[in-house]
Amino acid sequence: MTGETLFALASAPGRAAIAVWRLSGPGVAEGLRLVTGRNLPPPRRAALRRLVDPATGDAVDQALVLWFPGPASFTGEDAAELHTHGGRAVAEAIGAALARLPGFRHAEPGEFSRRAYLNGKLDLTEAEAIADLAAAETEAQRRQALAQAGGALSGLYDGWRAELIRLRAHLEADIEFPDEDIGDPVAQLSGQLDALRSGIAEHLADARRGERLRDGLTIAVVGAPNAGKSSLVNALARRDVAIVSPEAGTTRDAIEVHLDLGGYAVILIDTAGLRETTGLVESEGIRRARARAEDADLVLALFAADAEPDAETLALLDERAVVVRSKVDLDPHHSQIFASPLEGEVGLQGRVGGAAATSPAKRGRKHHPPPAGQSAVDLPLKGGGEDLEGLAISVKSGAGLDTLLRTLTDRVSALLSDRGPPPPTRARHREALGRCLAALDTAQTAALPELAAEDLRRAADELGRITGRIDIEDMLDAIFRDFCIGK
Ligand code: GDP
Repeated sequence: MTGETLFALASAPGRAAIAVWRLSGPGVAEGLRLVTGRNLPPPRRAALRRLVDPATGDAVDQALVLWFPGPASFTGEDAAELHTHGGRAVAEAIGAALARLPGFRHAEPGEFSRRAYLNGKLDLTEAEAIADLAAAETEAQRRQALAQAGGALSGLYDGWRAELIRLRAHLEADIEFPDEDIGDPVAQLSGQLDALRSGIAEHLADARRGERLRDGLTIAVVGAPNAGKSSLVNALARRDVAIVSPEAGTTRDAIEVHLDLGGYAVILIDTAGLRETTGLVESEGIRRARARAEDADLVLALFAADAEPDAETLALLDERAVVVRSKVDLDPHHSQIFASPLEGEVGLQGRVGGAAATSPAKRGRKHHPPPAGQSAVDLPLKGGGEDLEGLAISVKSGAGLDTLLRTLTDRVSALLSDRGPPPPTRARHREALGRCLAALDTAQTAALPELAAEDLRRAADELGRITGRIDIEDMLDAIFRDFCIGK
């Protein structure tokens, strides 16, 4: 461990009532004495202190000072918090004063959490969850991060790892002291290995959900040129309830809109934007956005009411699709319907948005008109898509947009809603779980018990790598780099 003492502004910079500084390392006790000109306050009790610049003795601010002697601190080291007044000039002066304390230096992003991890205060999944909590923009992201920060994933992985270590010990005992009567020692364990394997496989199968919850579920908006894609994306983005982070000023915001649908983070990808931009520079960002659109979790397929359904968009319809008839204000029949009180109240949920309306299996069947009263927003498309039903909208009149948002919210929540144990949340977890399962498979078919024991060791190590219980020095930089300063 380093002899340096870290300090950083842990709250967001800028104008604010209060700013919180975090200090950690062997020099904290002496630093507090110098900067307050007094003895240390009692541990873990807030004390009001005047802060002075140790070089000049000039007063810098008044602050609440909290002293957390190690190891009972976030980092496990001697640590402190200074709750100062907010604002840029105060922050400047305090930062300058702290930098003059002996052995003090400004912390790098994630350095406090990294020390907490190295001192055994957090495992890696808990440290990652702290970063996720700070980044959470929706309820579902917050819930998932909080569960993980509380050790939900660590508990799972530690439990499986302990079981693997126990099974391996068993196997090695059998190798060491073979019992002729028992037979093949690997076969003896096969029931327990199977149970473990299926638990891990089930958890791994939930990885996509975990990553979608954390990163946002993607919805690609597709359709022929002029189908109204950009207009729809803009209309949805303008609805204040829906916007999470417009991310103005980035190249991405032209083609991606971040929404909060029913507490779930959703990224709407405007493929019209993609097409327009590709003419200019085939940048890495666009390449990735295109790949994301192709790989989208849901596809919002637009067919303009005043045009024949185009083959290209029809070809994209699969179980991910939500079919929409756009610009229905141009269709006199629909204009009348939307003037009626039925708008937005028609029983669409699970029908128009549901896979049944658009699945390839259903395509090719003749469309049967739905019963009167339901037909309002479900009219068949003309031309090649006569057997398709679509949710009718008009960006111009606003008709159908609430229903569309509700339908999307239902689809998103069906894909992401909580179901039991916490899912893996990062590609790093998913990849290690995959390698763990592969090692278990090899163990079960190993020719010799010695080889099976080695496979079990590898499987346990993969789980240990996720939590950081085993040596992963090479990964630490990559993991903590994404943190904010002061964390
Ligand atoms: P994109 O190429 O699919 O992105 O389509 P745009 O959103 O750029 O729209 C193409 C044209 O259709 C524009 O002139 C829009 O103003 C118009 N448009 C979009 N939505 C509607 C709508 O609901 N009703 C009407 N009447 N026109 C629309």
